[in-house]
Amino acid sequence: MSMERLFGRPVSEGIAIGRILFYYNSDLSITVSHISDPEKETARYHEAVKLSEKQIDELYLKAVSEIGEANARIIEVHKMILLDQDLEDLVTGFITKEKINAESAVVSATGVLCERLRAVEDPLFAERVSDIRDISSRIVRNLLGGTKAACETDDPYVLVAEDLNPSDIFGFDREKLSGLVIKNGSANSHVAILARSLGVPALVQTDIFKSFNGKYAVVDGNRGELIIDPTEELLSGYRELLVRQEAEKELRKKVIGQPDVTSDGKKILLYASINDDSDLDSVLKNDAAGIGLFRTEFLYLKYDRYPTEDEQFAVYRSVLEKMKGKTVVMRTCDIGLDKTKDYLELPKEANPALGYRGIRMSLDRPEIFITQMKAMLRAAAYGKLSVLYPMVISIEEIKRLKRLTSLAKEALDDEKKEYGQIRQGVMIETPAAALISDLIAAEVDFISVGTNDLTQYTLAVDRQNPETETLFDREHPAIYRLMKMTVDNGHKMGIPVGICGEIEIDGEHIRKLIETGFDEISVPPAYILPVRQMIRQSRLI
Ligand code: PEP
Ligand code: MG
Repeated sequence: MSMERLFGRPVSEGIAIGRILFYYNSDLSITVSHISDPEKETARYHEAVKLSEKQIDELYLKAVSEIGEANARIIEVHKMILLDQDLEDLVTGFITKEKINAESAVVSATGVLCERLRAVEDPLFAERVSDIRDISSRIVRNLLGGTKAACETDDPYVLVAEDLNPSDIFGFDREKLSGLVIKNGSANSHVAILARSLGVPALVQTDIFKSFNGKYAVVDGNRGELIIDPTEELLSGYRELLVRQEAEKELRKKVIGQPDVTSDGKKILLYASINDDSDLDSVLKNDAAGIGLFRTEFLYLKYDRYPTEDEQFAVYRSVLEKMKGKTVVMRTCDIGLDKTKDYLELPKEANPALGYRGIRMSLDRPEIFITQMKAMLRAAAYGKLSVLYPMVISIEEIKRLKRLTSLAKEALDDEKKEYGQIRQGVMIETPAAALISDLIAAEVDFISVGTNDLTQYTLAVDRQNPETETLFDREHPAIYRLMKMTVDNGHKMGIPVGICGEIEIDGEHIRKLIETGFDEISVPPAYILPVRQMIRQSRLI
């Protein structure tokens, strides 16, 4: 056992120590290999099915407590597919007749099952196919020995994967997740954003090997290092650093309850950005002035079908109730790009970033938008809700969104359901929106700059592409000009202007944002206290 050090790109700071859980993705290419002992291979398959069954049972219990028994039934469907006799016959058939390894046999067998579904033109085709794919990748992961070691301990673990989709994260125990290392990925992808909001140290663009699974490791999210099998000496250094990190966190708690005001008296509303209602504990603990961005599409990623109005209402209401009258900005579903699930049946596009995402989907599928809006309006009776529309490029879109919102109110009136007042706002995250921000500001109650997409579209740099990451510069003068124009236009129309995309957690950058004139800044919950310190230390003149 010798220590190995690998360098990666740090995207979420901090130190994590734990055992590696190597995650095999569903699209991992499985190599077909010919085997000589079909009995042994069949036994491997049965072992993997047994382990999958145990995991699904555990997942069921967790899902019942998180999303309720009725919704957790989908997991029972997974179990039925797993234990289906047809699947077993097909897999063992492939192993014994074709003499191929169990992994390839599972992929081939589930392929046959999907083909059969297609042939009978089952209306639930897409949903079923996605369930079968899920089961296929679970069995394959277990065959490859992926999840076993780390999942069976109660210790913190470091999740290592070639690629990770935002929806994958929800399948893991987030309590025990201490670090994240991804081979591909970029600093601006939603997985990186998720890591920052969970406060988990993370690296992307790091060389990883399957042999890492189960090994002890350190993730240094400050310097960008993954250390496998660290020596006792190095480990004790890192343990000391962890203690210091905790002590710093304690020290930061001193600013809890302090106002978010610069040393020369400019007041800022410091909000938290969240992706899931489970982030709320951290929002409250870190005492944010409100929620500046709730990315509601992550709720859609938790399901294997569209969440219903009542299911959404329950989540939105609980967020508003817990925030006790403080502002909560909920963004309408911004599906697309890296945030997708099979049931959404998004088109295959050459340029998804320039394609079907955000309100483009909402306007194309108005029934989905209206369902969400009804849930939000009902929840608005329990707090102070602002609704934010993503990916807007024109006034016509805003008018259509407002019409749909009126239809949602009319439907609630007809159904005699109570609802509250909302403020409506638009994200300024396309250059078009920034350039017509005067016209947009005349239509809405507030606007909020999404720096991630605004940077991507203004600089023509794909936020997901590691090759062009060095060009992704949120501090480019073009971005500052567009932000300044947006802030001034908003203020001319007498509405507040916020910034809810990612920002550099750096005193000078934050000072410049305040100088630009933003009224509200929204950051991941873990950054509330450091940013408060920076705001309090900054001086504009
Ligand atoms: C943004 O684009 O800056 C933003 C806040 O939205 P997201 O990162 O979810 O696209
Ligand atoms: Mg965006």
